[in-house]
Amino acid sequence: MNDLDLSILKQNLEKKGYGVSFFETKESATNYLASQINGKTVGFGGSVTIKEMNLFEILSKTNRVYFHDKTPDGLTVMQVRTLATRSDIYISSVNGISMDGQIINIDNTGNRVAAISYGPEKVYLVIGKNKVAKDFESALYRARNVSAPQNAKRLNRKTPCAVKGDRCYDCNAEDRICRNLSVLIHKPTGAEYEVILINENLGY
Ligand code: SF4
Repeated sequence: MNDLDLSILKQNLEKKGYGVSFFETKESATNYLASQINGKTVGFGGSVTIKEMNLFEILSKTNRVYFHDKTPDGLTVMQVRTLATRSDIYISSVNGISMDGQIINIDNTGNRVAAISYGPEKVYLVIGKNKVAKDFESALYRARNVSAPQNAKRLNRKTPCAVKGDRCYDCNAEDRICRNLSVLIHKPTGAEYEVILINENLGY
């Protein structure tokens, strides 16, 4: 169980220039996002957290939402990824975050880290408490040895980590999903960023 103090993380993120909202449950966070985002184009990065929050279904009621897991007829997965990165709003989770507010993501095609790093109008980063680590090294270890292997397992990748989802083997497999490593050490200039902290375990 992660007993790190999320109020301290919130303060540290605010010092770095992020907007931060805190919620006890994923349902309250989903309701908040639905109240904030209307009449926009919205892009999603690949994210179990987003699926667990039913954000595609809920935000699609009042926005045009692009999510490559829900590729519509007539578009390719890559076309949807591109439309998502160019949307007004981009929503993603993260693979790890340190208590001092450094945000870590590992990506395969790079669409997610590109959109997060060079945000559109606004970027929302939705983060369950299981993603929070005490320091940068622990957050990086988590991203590489917890988040990535479990995602490889979920995606049925032919990688050594996908057998048990236990740790990274730093593979050279054709199916390797770890090809980009991004660290937001401070809020990027340009786009508006809001971190949505949730006091529940969400995603990997
Ligand atoms: S580098 Fe390879 S073994 Fe390590 S987590 Fe990524 S896909 Fe799995």
